[in-house]
Formats: sequence, structure tokens, C-alpha cells
Amino acid sequence: MSAAADNLTRIRASIPEAVTLVAVSKFHPTGAIMDAYDAGQRNFGESRVQELSAKMPQLPADIHWHFIGHLQTNKVRQLLRLHPALIESVDSERLLKAIDTEAEKIGIIQNVLMQVHVAQEETKTGFHPDELLAYFRDRRFENLRATHICGIMGMATNTDDECRIRTDFDMIAATFREIRSVCPDLRGFETVSMGMSDDYPTAIRCGSNMVRVGTAIFGAREY
Ligand SMILES: *Cc1c(COP(=O)(O)O)cnc(C)c1O
Repeated sequence: MSAAADNLTRIRASIPEAVTLVAVSKFHPTGAIMDAYDAGQRNFGESRVQELSAKMPQLPADIHWHFIGHLQTNKVRQLLRLHPALIESVDSERLLKAIDTEAEKIGIIQNVLMQVHVAQEETKTGFHPDELLAYFRDRRFENLRATHICGIMGMATNTDDECRIRTDFDMIAATFREIRSVCPDLRGFETVSMGMSDDYPTAIRCGSNMVRVGTAIFGAREY
């Protein structure tokens, strides 16, 4: 068995059935993706439109691609034509509007997650929890015509401080629950995507049902 398949099998066995495992394949070659695919993996994550569009034609059509990187509005058209299963990184209303406009134009419903920013790094993007709550409280999602918001995505601060990581994940999970309580009629709003290679077990304990794991499956990335 390949190292990736081995890692995948071990991680899969260690997480609950109900948690979706997204194998983050950014910067890794299609051969490594095929090793994981052959081990049964179908959800993969990529963070750049260019890279995704280069890899996709070389790989099986039944892969569910998750877009997890910062998306510029001028790349929306190109990305949506690749039909990603889920765009996890919607970090502004402007971007959401651009996705909605393009999805309507090509006649699809695009699934997305709203990215929430709780980490201490300024470099990370996303809605502030209060900003996101206001979006749902004001029911601004009712203006969307071709986009389905399936949940939220977030990242913890990049630190060794377990306590800080737990606080961040608790904050993301609390934001999710609050959105559900202000909009109990929201349909299909079920996904809490949080947890990466170093912190996914903690994320799952805090309520994650989707983890995005790269390094622990494929090894270190060469940028
Ligand atoms: C790269 C990336 C991951 C995977 O990180 P690893 O530490 O390699 O598991 C997860 N989520 C996002 C948003 C990423 O950009």
C-alpha cells in the first residue's frame, strides 16, 4: 500500500463515520491523489483555481472537489465551470454575490460554506462571528437565487496552545448553533468544517462534522 493510502486508512478508522474526511491534495501530484482514490477516498480539497483546473481532467470524474482557498471574484467564473462539489471558503458577501450571479447564469445550484474568522492571525480571512450572525438574522440569504449555504468553515489559530485551539473551535461551533437558532427554518444547513492535520481530533470533539486533512495523509507540501 502507498503511504497516502496507509495514512488515509488509519485516519478514516480513527474518526466517527458521520465526519466527512476531505483529503487536501493541494501541491501534491495526481499520482498521490490516485493512491488515495484507489483506497476509496472521494472528497478532495484544493486551494487554487489554476491547480484544480490542471488536475481535474487527469482524474476520475466521480471525485467531489472542495475548494478551500481564498477565492478572488475574478476567478469565480472559471471555478464554477469546474463544478466543485462545495466551495468552503466564502469569506465576503461580495464573493457570495459573484458566485450566485455566475451559478444562475450557468444554470446550477452552487453549494457553499461561509468561512468564519476566529483565529488570531490577521492573514486568515472570513466573516467575524457577529457579522455572520447579522447576515442570517437579517435573512440576507433570501436574496440568493442559485447558491445553497450548507454550513460554515473555520480554522483555529496556528499555535501549540491546546486551550487556544479549543476556544477557537468552540467559538466556530457556537456560531453554527446560533445561526441555526436564529434561522431554524434554514434547510440543509448542517456542515461544520473545522480541523486540519494537527488539530482534527480536537475539532471533532468540539463538534466538527467535516475535517480537511492534507499533510497527515500526503506528507509535507513542497511549495
Ligand atoms: C492547506 C489547508 C488545509 C490542510 O492543512 P494540513 O495542515 O496540511 O492538514 C486545510 N484547510 C485549509 C483551508 C487549507 O488551506
